[in-house]
Amino acid sequence: MRINIISLFPDLIENFMNYGVLGRAIKESKAHLQIYNPRKYSTDIHQTVDDRPYGGGDGMVMLAENLDLTLGELKDAQELGEIYYLSPQGPLWNDEMAVSWANERATKTLICGRYGGIDQRVLQKHKIMEISIGDYILSGGELAAMVVVDSVFRKLPGVLGNELSAISDSFSKMGLLEAPLYTRPAIWQDRKVPAVLLSGHHEKIETAKDIMSYIVTALKRPDLIEKNGLHQSLKKALQEVSQWDPQELLAWGVEQNNLAQLKKTYLGEDFD
Ligand code: SAM
Repeated sequence: MRINIISLFPDLIENFMNYGVLGRAIKESKAHLQIYNPRKYSTDIHQTVDDRPYGGGDGMVMLAENLDLTLGELKDAQELGEIYYLSPQGPLWNDEMAVSWANERATKTLICGRYGGIDQRVLQKHKIMEISIGDYILSGGELAAMVVVDSVFRKLPGVLGNELSAISDSFSKMGLLEAPLYTRPAIWQDRKVPAVLLSGHHEKIETAKDIMSYIVTALKRPDLIEKNGLHQSLKKALQEVSQWDPQELLAWGVEQNNLAQLKKTYLGEDFD
């Protein structure tokens, strides 16, 4: 899959492309990231890419012409694909969108704004869609573009060393959060790893992890239980953990008062 990024600060993105999972994926040509700098199309001695906003106001505005010519270059090379402007005004980016882009594998072009933003006319001319990464203002679209690229590329086949890690990550399994993780030593500062994880019993381990996914999601992000219609499965998980040794539950990071609160909320006042 190929993603083009249009940015006035390519160095920011190049640095990011060299590291970790993403760096490896690009080096091994499992994913392709190309950067285009609209400054290339500036014709004056100062290499101007922005100007003052009509109607007054703070901040400069990125020129339509430079972006139009950059998009034209990509179109001529038949490498444009759908175009998105990273903008705080767009729909919020999420894991579902990342999965859909990765499955589709079609080329996308991301435009990073700077200063006050971009001249509206180029957005309209090219029917450019918007993506926001959250309800806050960044100084530029580069960070946002990297968030999008990273979350998509790690979903491409063969990019993660262990294929299963993408499946067990939060949001992947029915929109649930991942169960807590533990590594050696088995006892650290008097704190034990949940006994089931040391049992060697694969099926029991997977069942316990699934149950804990429901519990941590209900504790940390109850909105996801609502959004994904998981009430019935959560009820079953709560009934199951109610039978567990409280020490085992504590090893998973769940205190009895938290469990009691969840039972009251999801199993009803009278549940004992
Ligand atoms: N004046 C703009 C507004 O109020 O909508 C914000 C401009 S911001 C300082 C500069 C650039 O950062 C934007 O053009 C956009 O590309 C990027 N940006 C800022 N916040 C963002 C967000 N939450 N998600 C995605 N991109 C963002």
